[in-house]
Amino acid sequence: MTPVLDVQDLTVYYGKRRALEGVSLTVGRGEIVTLLGANGAGKSTTLRAVSGLVRPERGRIVYEGRDITQAPADAIVAAGVGHVPEGREIFPEFTVLENLLVGGHTVRRSQVGERVDAAFELFPVLGRRQSQLAGTLSGGEQQMLAIGRALMPRPRLLLLDEPSLGLAPLLSREIFRVIQRINDSGVAVLLVEQNARRALALAARGYVLETGRLVVAGPSAALAADPRVRTAYLGLDRARGGAAG
Ligand code: ATP
Repeated sequence: MTPVLDVQDLTVYYGKRRALEGVSLTVGRGEIVTLLGANGAGKSTTLRAVSGLVRPERGRIVYEGRDITQAPADAIVAAGVGHVPEGREIFPEFTVLENLLVGGHTVRRSQVGERVDAAFELFPVLGRRQSQLAGTLSGGEQQMLAIGRALMPRPRLLLLDEPSLGLAPLLSREIFRVIQRINDSGVAVLLVEQNARRALALAARGYVLETGRLVVAGPSAALAADPRVRTAYLGLDRARGGAAG
């Protein structure tokens, strides 16, 4: 079956600095795939390239069979790719509702109401705070708003960049539960996460980036058992053995 996302041989530079080299990965329809790696490995750059925010030097990005490598970012959103950037990037001076409406600016007017209701159904706290300025929300609520906003155009692929970053464990668990729910509704997810343990528990497959190159790829269970992943990302001592969990 055609993957929802097919990235081939992606190379990205920032000026003279190479951030990605020859990265190839796929996300299947309705699949959750995680992208792991240390700070600066190129995870965010991969997501940015897919959503058209940085232009690759080389390579090809195909979404639902369509080449989007050179497509403008707004066309990629309209095609069905949602992106929740690291740090959320909500509009702090806008209300919760206004932030959702910005996310839904491409949505047909007759459908905006039901999309907003769907966001409030997924995140009831946002419904209760819909008139509140987004900048006054807690970190967890801002993350929920960023996800709700990205879902407004009903993407079929959601790119999530470190959704649990800086969140207390309880909220972080809540965010992971919501990602599962979003995926249950048929949305494929490419998840960048510092919490490799949680990410591998949620994802079917994963890729590991090191300084811009893919070094390991495979089903989550195989990655969780891989000595390189265990020591570097799961904080487990390979000499001690035992199950990764
Ligand atoms: P982090 O978890 O820290 O966000 P990452 O794996 O997402 O890390 P990227 O943000 O993709 O990594 O960065 C990859 C490389 O590109 C790093 O060396 C980074 O310093 C560099 N880089 C990222 N953004 C820019 C930019 N706008 N200009 C120049 N260099 C950049």
